[in-house]
Amino acid sequence: MFIYLSAFLFWSLLGAGMGWFVDGGWTSALGAWLGGLWWALLQLGRAHRLEAWFRQGAAGEPPRLRGLWREVSDRIRRVLRLREREVQTHVERLQRFLDAIQASPNGVTLLNGEGRIEWCNSAASQHLGLHPERDLGQHVVHLVRDPAFSRYFQQEQHDNEVQMDGRSPSISQRVRLSAQLYPYGAGQQLLLTRDITALLQAEAMRRDFVANVSHEIRTPLAVLAGFVETLQSLPLPPEQQQQYLDLMAVQAGRMQTLVNDLLTLSQLEGSPPPNPTEQVSLQPFMAQIEADARALSALQGKDAISPAHELVFAPVPDWNLLGSRAELHSAVSNLVSNAVRYTPLGGRIEVGWREQGDELVMAVRDTGPGIAPEHLPRLSERFYRVDHSRSRETGGTGLGLAITKHVAQRHGGALRIESQLGVGSTFMLVLPSSRHVQRKDD
Ligand code: ADP
Repeated sequence: MFIYLSAFLFWSLLGAGMGWFVDGGWTSALGAWLGGLWWALLQLGRAHRLEAWFRQGAAGEPPRLRGLWREVSDRIRRVLRLREREVQTHVERLQRFLDAIQASPNGVTLLNGEGRIEWCNSAASQHLGLHPERDLGQHVVHLVRDPAFSRYFQQEQHDNEVQMDGRSPSISQRVRLSAQLYPYGAGQQLLLTRDITALLQAEAMRRDFVANVSHEIRTPLAVLAGFVETLQSLPLPPEQQQQYLDLMAVQAGRMQTLVNDLLTLSQLEGSPPPNPTEQVSLQPFMAQIEADARALSALQGKDAISPAHELVFAPVPDWNLLGSRAELHSAVSNLVSNAVRYTPLGGRIEVGWREQGDELVMAVRDTGPGIAPEHLPRLSERFYRVDHSRSRETGGTGLGLAITKHVAQRHGGALRIESQLGVGSTFMLVLPSSRHVQRKDD
């Protein structure tokens, strides 16, 4: 400030001195005034340069000024930089929030007070078929045309969610959404959407499963109850009583098998993957399977001693397999017993292991009735049967292939089925070849 006063005085005195030198008296006063005016114009010029720099948004270097103006421009620059940094921090924070909302599997759509779209994340645009830029400013009810949503939107209160159809990627795939509106800010609304297709499917599957289990148990139970009632109420001769008791034992056995299969399935679903160090020696394992198959086939024949099918077990490789013995036994014996149960007497059944590329394949080939292609993808669903009466007749539960598929998947493998109607079927348990461990003496 002192410098400024000094400069002002300097220019005024210089003007006065020059006025005195020219004419003295009043001329020196005019010189002082002109000197002061020159000083003021100089300052105005600097202020103007600074103002012009401001008008351009204070971008780039400030004008080269000196003294107080320099000080002012530097301070302004510092304040602006501070503001810029603050704005940048806010922008980054906002971007992080938006990124987090973008990453959410739930759809988030921001609506203004009139219900027009202000912003939506990619899940919402997928769920509702919105374009994240083109549809901004559009009224949500004009774009989300489900009548259930329109009715919901018109309601005063939105305490509950509404279920509606979502935009599906293909005609065959129906997508169901759950949507709810939440008020926020000054009259704005947040529209949250959730894809509940899988949830509804799981719920439907659970209902079907309970209905199936009840149905499967109800039938033998009804038969058992009928026989018990008959035995209680009628004085039957001992041979007939024995006959009824035998039939009751069959029904009780059927229920036992069903409960065992259900337990196996729930254990497979609920337990951790098989112990990674357990090993199965394939030769004794398959010897047991073969003996069971021969006994089952014989039971179906007339004499119950010699097998009623041509059973061909290929020589078993001398392998050790990494896996759960109990689970693999259940999977393999299901495939072999299915072949025996569904192949007519006299048919041929071949069983063998082979290593193929990076896979170990256990194949069971039969000359049974074969399966039409439309059934193949559904065979491993619980309780799915091609021929219900044949399955029941032979004591099937409809859970065998579901168990086998689970076991295969738990061992990193798969269940593969090839079949031709009227020719026969091949069921394959495929495991990764990494499950074949070298024996110490190999
Ligand atoms: P089930 O206890 O009824 O045999 P599975 O889950 O083992 O149940 O098999 C499902 C269905 O697949 C069977 O009901 C049967 O219709 C069909 N199936 C399974 N194995 C064979 C086979 N080897 N030949 C023909 N059909 C088969």
